Amino acid sequence: MNQSDLLAGHEGLLIVLSGPSGTGKGTLVKEISKKNDNIKLSVSVTTRIPRKGETDGESYFFVSEREFIRMRDNNELIEWVEYCGNHYGTPKQFIFDTVKKGYDIILDIEVEGARNFKSIFPQSVMIFVVPPSMEELRKRILKRGTESAETIEERLKRSKEEYNYIDHYEYLVVNDNLDKAVDDISSIIKAEKFSIKRMKKLPDKMGTGGSL
Ligand code: ADP
Ligand code: 5GP
Repeated sequence: MNQSDLLAGHEGLLIVLSGPSGTGKGTLVKEISKKNDNIKLSVSVTTRIPRKGETDGESYFFVSEREFIRMRDNNELIEWVEYCGNHYGTPKQFIFDTVKKGYDIILDIEVEGARNFKSIFPQSVMIFVVPPSMEELRKRILKRGTESAETIEERLKRSKEEYNYIDHYEYLVVNDNLDKAVDDISSIIKAEKFSIKRMKKLPDKMGTGGSL
């Protein structure tokens, strides 16, 4: 039985958000999970140094390289990646426990990890978020003020490469106005709830007199 089969029957949605660094993914997933009690945020582990304002266990689980490798080798991560010199990974147990309880989970992960995640959980809803322009992206990273000039350039270079993965996604959202982007993503999630292909059991032939 594969990992995806283990979840079959009673799961919530797995919603994967990717896009260039600085687009606003972190801001969006926080807003969306805050507004909807049924959507839980997947908290990744990382070896990155915490930014000002980030809390351990909320933004990320901040761990040493040694601990990250231990978790990876102990099969505690669903997917992992090295991104601009740091390791990032999705803890497995939370995903299984939470989705089985019927909650939807939203993940903010980069493109390679997202592709691996989708191969394990093909039912995932894949959303690619982009900024309105490259200039705006640069402005947002600068405004965040958390990276050195060198890291910013590395992230911008990586951003351009990330667009090559767009075919692995089902939806594209432009994060220009934050409230609108939150609404757009919420609409996608809502529409997915009505998807016939996701329904394990179809309703009876209502209103057709059984002649459907
Ligand atoms: P990411 O998680 O994609 O790297 P963040 O969520 O950290 O991006 O956002 C980067 C910066 O852009 C933050 O300072 C955030 O407040 C800001 N931001 C996010 N969305 C918008 C938006 N729609 N308009 C303007 N600024 C935004
Ligand atoms: P940041 O350092 O800006 O918080 O994150 C850098 C990149 O790592 C972002 O694109 C973010 O989506 C991605 N990321 C965060 N957590 C994970 C994870 O668990 N797995 C993968 N593959 N990417 C992650």
